[in-house]
Amino acid sequence: MLYPQRLTEFTEEHSDTLAALVCGVLLFLGWLALHIGWLGWALLLLPAAYVIGGYDSAREGLTTLIKEKELDVDLLMIVAALGAASLGLWRGEYHLIIDGAILILIFAISGALEGYAMRRTERSIKGLMSLTPDTARVLLKGEEEMLPITQLKVGDEIIVKPGELIPTDGIIISGYSTLNQAAITGESLPIEKSVGDEVFAGTLNGFGALKLQVHKPASSSLIQRVIRLVEQAQTEAPPSQQFIERFERIYARVIVVAGLLLVFLPPFIWGWTWETTIYRALTFLVVASPCALMAAIMPTLLSGIANGARQGILFKNGAQLEKIGKVRAIAFDKTGTLTTGNVQVSQVIPSSEYSENEVLKAAAALESCSEHPIGKAIVQSAGADWVRGVDVQAIPGQGIVGFVNQEKVFVGNTAFIKQYVTQFPEELQKSVQSLENEGKTVVWVAKNPTPEAERETIVMGAIAISDMVRIEAAAMISRLRKLGVEQIVMITGDNQRTADSVAQTVGIDRVYAELLPEDKLDVIRKLQQEYQTVAMVGDGINDAPALAQASVGIAMGIAGSDVALETADIVLMADKLEKLATAIELGRRSHSVVKQNIVVALGFILLLLIGNFLGNINLPIGVIGHEGSTVLVTLSGLRLLKN
Ligand code: ADP
Ligand code: MG
Repeated sequence: MLYPQRLTEFTEEHSDTLAALVCGVLLFLGWLALHIGWLGWALLLLPAAYVIGGYDSAREGLTTLIKEKELDVDLLMIVAALGAASLGLWRGEYHLIIDGAILILIFAISGALEGYAMRRTERSIKGLMSLTPDTARVLLKGEEEMLPITQLKVGDEIIVKPGELIPTDGIIISGYSTLNQAAITGESLPIEKSVGDEVFAGTLNGFGALKLQVHKPASSSLIQRVIRLVEQAQTEAPPSQQFIERFERIYARVIVVAGLLLVFLPPFIWGWTWETTIYRALTFLVVASPCALMAAIMPTLLSGIANGARQGILFKNGAQLEKIGKVRAIAFDKTGTLTTGNVQVSQVIPSSEYSENEVLKAAAALESCSEHPIGKAIVQSAGADWVRGVDVQAIPGQGIVGFVNQEKVFVGNTAFIKQYVTQFPEELQKSVQSLENEGKTVVWVAKNPTPEAERETIVMGAIAISDMVRIEAAAMISRLRKLGVEQIVMITGDNQRTADSVAQTVGIDRVYAELLPEDKLDVIRKLQQEYQTVAMVGDGINDAPALAQASVGIAMGIAGSDVALETADIVLMADKLEKLATAIELGRRSHSVVKQNIVVALGFILLLLIGNFLGNINLPIGVIGHEGSTVLVTLSGLRLLKN
C-alpha cells in the first residue's frame, strides 16, 4: 500500500512539473493535428493545453486581482495568450493559437523551475528537522521504556543504541561512540564522543551504545531552536525581492495602460492597420512583462541558501546572503568564537588568608548558576562539595554576584571587582598580570561578610582559565584578508593583555578589550560609519546587542547561547570558523549571479520592445525571447546549488 501513497506525494510535490509536461505534450499533438489538417482535433487539444498549463497562473493572477486589487505578471501572461488565441480564431490564423500555447507552456516551465529551487532549499533545511525521532528509550527504575520526546524531563536518563538517531540533546554518562553530526553541521566526518560530552538531537550514533542524561527540555534542543528560527525567517522576503515585487505591481499597471494606448493610437498616428496594431499590442504585452526580472532574484538566493545549508551555514533568509558578500569589516568576539570556549581552570592563586579550595568553592557556588564558559570551567574543577549560592545574578561581560553562606561573593574581571575592592594584594596582582600576558583569562574572587558596608569586600584569590584558540582561526583570518575584507577587529569583554595575546596568535591587529555588551555595540556602530557593511561574529549573551546592530550577525551554532542564535542572521552550525569565508564567497557568487540575471532580463526586455515597435518580431519570437530569458535566468540561479 506504500506505493500509491508515494505516488500521490510525488504528484503533489511535482504538480507544477507534471502540468508543464502534459501541457507540452498536448501542445505538440495540437500542432501536429493542425499540420495534418485535423482542425477539430487541434481545437480540442490546444485549449486543453491552455487550461492545464495555465491553470495555476490564472488562479494566482485572479486571486491577486480579486483579493489585493492588483495586476500581476501571471494575469498579463494569461491575457496575452488568450488574446493571441482570440485573434487567431477571429482571423482564422490558427498558428496564433499555437503561439499562445507556447507562451503558456514556457511560463509553466519557468514556474516549475522556480518551484524546484524552492523545494530544494526547503528540503535542505527541513532535512535537518525530519531527522529527530519522536520517541526516546528512557530508563525508569532500571527498566527501558519508549516515551514520546515531549514527555522527557531534564535529568532523565535515556539509552541510544548503535546506529540510532539521538532523540534529544544530552550529556553522555556512560559509553563511547563516534557520531555523525552531518544533520546539523553538514560535516559528515564522524566525531568521537565519550562520557561528559554533549550530543545533539538529530545526529546519528555510530557503533557504541550510549547512556545519556537529558540536560535541557527537548523543545530547546539545538535543532528545534534552529527549526523555529528558520521557519520564522522564511516568511520574510529579502528587501531586493520586496523591491522587485513593488516594482512589478506598478510596472504591470504601466504595461496595461501602455498596451491599451498601443491598441488605439497607432492607427491614427502612424496609420497601422487594426490587425497589425492588435498583434503588436499583444506582443508588447508579452515582451514587456517583467517575468525574467521576477525570476532573477529568488531562485538564485534560494539556491544559495540551499547550498549553504548543505555545508552547515544557515542563512536565515536571502537578504543576509546578499549582504554578507558585501562585508568590508568583521568584528570577532574572543571567548567561544576565536577560542573554543572549551575552557579549563589552569591555576588557582589564593591570597594569604585563604586556600585554593576555598577560593574555588566560593566561585563554584555562584558559577553553578552561570551559562558562561568560565563558569562551567570553574564548576568542573571545584569537585562536588559546595553549596549553591542564592540570589545569584550574572552581569554579562563582567562577572557574577550572589550570596554564599550569608556572605556576599563576587567573581569577575578586574574592572568589575574594582567597584567593590580597594586593596588588591600586590604579589597576587603581579602573577595575574603575567598569566594574562600568556593569553589566560583571570577572574578575581572576592567576598564581603557584611554586605551592608560594601567597602569591606576583600580579595580571596584569583582563578586563571586557559582557553584554546581554534586551530582554524589564523588561517581563516588570512583567508578573509585575501578575500579583500578591509578591517578585522577583535571585541571582547576580557582584559587587554589576554586579548592582545590571543589577537597576536590569530593575526588580528585591532583589539578592543574590556568591553561591556553595549560597548561592543558601539564599536560595531563606529565600524559601520567607516565601512558601511559590517559583520559581527559571536556566541554569547554579551554579544547579542552587537549581533543585532551589525549589518550581518553571525553566531556559532553549537557553542552559541540561545540569545546569540536568535539574534544572528547567519548560524555557523558546526562552529567551524572557516565556513565564514565560504559564506562570504557564496554571498558574492549569489550577488554577481543576481546582477548578471538582472542585466540579462532587462536587456532582453529592451531588445524585444524595440524589435516589436519596429515590427521586426512576431509573437512566437517575442514569446520565445521573453520566456526564454526567464528560463535562462532561473537556470542561471540554480547554478548556485553547485559548490
Ligand atoms: P568575551 O567578550 O570574550 O566573550 P565576556 O564578555 O563574556 O567575554 O566576558 C568578559 C569578561 O567578564 C570575562 O573575561 C570575565 O573576566 C568576566 N566574566 C563574565 N562572565 C563571568 C562569569 N560568569 N564569571 C566570572 N567572570 C565573568
Ligand atoms: Mg563570547
